[in-house]
Amino acid sequence: MKTPLRFLIVILSVSLLRAAEPDTPVFRAGAATSDVTPPLGTSMNGGFQDRKATYIHDPQLVRCLALDDGKTQVVLVVVDSCVIGRDIFDEAKAMVEKATGLPKKYMLMSATHSHSCGTVQAVGQSDPDPLYQRFVARRIADGVCCAIQNLEPAQIAWGVGSVPQHVFNRRYEMKEGGIPATPLGVTTDKVRTNPGVGNPLVVKPAGPTDPEVPFLSVRSVAGRPIALYANYALHYVGGTGPGHISADYFGAFARILRDHLKADHASPAFVGMMSNAASGDINNVDVLGKQEKQPPYGQIAIVAGDVAREVRRVYDTLTWHDEAPLTVVQRELSLGVRLPTADEVTKAGEVMKGSKLAPRMETMEQVYARETVLLSEFPKEVSALLQVVKIGRFQLAAIPAEVFVEIGLELKKKHPGTTVVSLANAYHGYLPTPGHHALGGYETWRARSSYLEVDASTKIVKSLEEMMSELK
Ligand SMILES: [Zn+2]
Repeated sequence: MKTPLRFLIVILSVSLLRAAEPDTPVFRAGAATSDVTPPLGTSMNGGFQDRKATYIHDPQLVRCLALDDGKTQVVLVVVDSCVIGRDIFDEAKAMVEKATGLPKKYMLMSATHSHSCGTVQAVGQSDPDPLYQRFVARRIADGVCCAIQNLEPAQIAWGVGSVPQHVFNRRYEMKEGGIPATPLGVTTDKVRTNPGVGNPLVVKPAGPTDPEVPFLSVRSVAGRPIALYANYALHYVGGTGPGHISADYFGAFARILRDHLKADHASPAFVGMMSNAASGDINNVDVLGKQEKQPPYGQIAIVAGDVAREVRRVYDTLTWHDEAPLTVVQRELSLGVRLPTADEVTKAGEVMKGSKLAPRMETMEQVYARETVLLSEFPKEVSALLQVVKIGRFQLAAIPAEVFVEIGLELKKKHPGTTVVSLANAYHGYLPTPGHHALGGYETWRARSSYLEVDASTKIVKSLEEMMSELK
């Protein structure tokens, strides 16, 4: 072969090889669910007393969304559960990493905070069944692996709705005599959480609310809805039946949205997701008594219906994109623990002896005394896992706590497009601001549901902002 011809053939084959590679990376999305509904008889957490599941009203699901920009893969997971600890999430992430090669850092997993689900993490007087914990970890991994298998070329869009009528700041300034001593014997609280509907001593809420419902949505290139990941700052709704397993309004939102998008027969199935935003001090109770009394699941249907309708309204106005860059930053932050003193632990032990139902505690004083004793075993510092996941113009700040609404509002204001995902990747109890610690109230009472140092939120926000600037 003469040299010029050989040269031509080489050039031709190189350009053929180039043509086989796509010019721009293809954006892909895939979603899947797995079922973590526990057996009847399983402990249910979310209250001071433990309850046992006696009926399954609707399933507890793990809702998973995998995104791939051609270079980076990110997985978003929302689990129907009150709270999930670091060990379970890490166990699930390790299984996914082993099965798919995706490093743990690229997975954002959170619990919804439904108070009608099987106990996965010890809180109040509810303790998890280790077998159920292993099952939940395994099923989270299964859901993620299926979502990754479902990856297909996709389009993405972002929207923000507003549903102000269902969020109330649940901490109130009260008139003289409206604030009782805490179960820990503290008499300096300046606010009262959940003072009760119609309480004549209520003055006004001690903080704001956040009505926004930011969401991201993905669809196939043919227009079939794949998944929609929304975020709303509402603790939960409740009003289920006694002993009922239910995914609360988070599950109802997903079902109603699927109907609105006419995606009930989509294959693979459409996955609606509602993560919990900064809702540590926000609930669905109007203490002024303007809400009508509802039968079981009535209020859940109203809230889920209104939020889904608003998302559907905004959905019609969305601009769809063929790509969105994905980036993740993750960091461990050391935070102090508000440990009880030796004297407090001794006194708490005495209070616990007063329970006639020991080892179960009867009164709030006894419940909090037990918490004091349990907290004395905690380390001086804990490591909190923080994550920032950027998906195009959408930025999720994942915080392993029940984050107060002020923190979410501050991050939104300073970094537009940012939204907090609470109860993410671990659980370290409530995260009030230092100002709210000074006001006191239920969310600040020292227990396994509130033990981080008073300045924890300041340190967390500072770290998250540094992480966001790394992403720029
Ligand atoms: Zn809570």
